[in-house]
Amino acid sequence: MRELVVLGTASQVPTRHRNHNGYLLRWDGDGILFDPGEGTQRQMLRAGVAAHDLRRICVTHFHGDHSLGLAGVIQRINLDQVPHKITAHYPKSGQRFFERLRYATAYRETVRLAEAPVEADGILAVTPAYTLEARRLSHPVESFGYRLVEPDGRRMLPERLAAHGIEGPDIGRLQREGSLGGVSLDDVSEVRRGQRFAFVMDTRLCDGAYALADGCDMLVIESTFLDEDARLAADHGHLTAGQAGRVAADAGVRHLVLTHFSQRYSEPEEFERQARAAGFEGELTVAHDLMRVSLPKRR
Ligand SMILES: [Zn+2]
Repeated sequence: MRELVVLGTASQVPTRHRNHNGYLLRWDGDGILFDPGEGTQRQMLRAGVAAHDLRRICVTHFHGDHSLGLAGVIQRINLDQVPHKITAHYPKSGQRFFERLRYATAYRETVRLAEAPVEADGILAVTPAYTLEARRLSHPVESFGYRLVEPDGRRMLPERLAAHGIEGPDIGRLQREGSLGGVSLDDVSEVRRGQRFAFVMDTRLCDGAYALADGCDMLVIESTFLDEDARLAADHGHLTAGQAGRVAADAGVRHLVLTHFSQRYSEPEEFERQARAAGFEGELTVAHDLMRVSLPKRR
């Protein structure tokens, strides 16, 4: 199962209807928690996400709306005695903030929480299900976006297998050995492109945002402001809805998820309208708290 569980969608301050940020990506058996703002522990409860579901925590930067929830979530992981190791990624320049949040109050540490700070663009982890990469963004404090890339696989084509008379255990042999009796893997299968997911927050328009979004099946991206406030967005290191839409359109994104909205706006539809006006034609979701968004079906 691959889906995004939206825990919170507010920038800077929570509102009556929007919690601080928080996003869980379910990727097969792995749960990756992005940017847990204040109140994330309770939003997890409301969304049906358990501490045991977490394998990895990725923090883009140390502003409160993206990280104040770490204290509660880390203590909850320990209270529930999660049996597996959990790895945390965050900008290394914020190591002191991570430590303060990790040890904000007294509790009994029972869980292996590995600190894997990010210093530069590059690959952070390789698992059979995905490669996790980080790219630097452009914000007043150091900020990194994240990207998951599933390795390409192969899809066997039953009619071609039948045409070559390959069946039963021979199919496995052909897959392992690459050819069988003059028939190659290319003759009876096609490349199954791996899925890609990116998480881009908080940033101005920059190369990193485009690189992260490139060819993604799903892009979760901040659109703090509407286009008429582009000046404010640039001054504070944020994107407008139109800019987010342009990144997604240029990068060939299939499903765009807009989030991280300023409290100054009351009409979410306007974010969609401006992202569309910027040329994005794929699936588009204006996120609200506690919604679930499935990754699009494989191509
Ligand atoms: Zn923010």
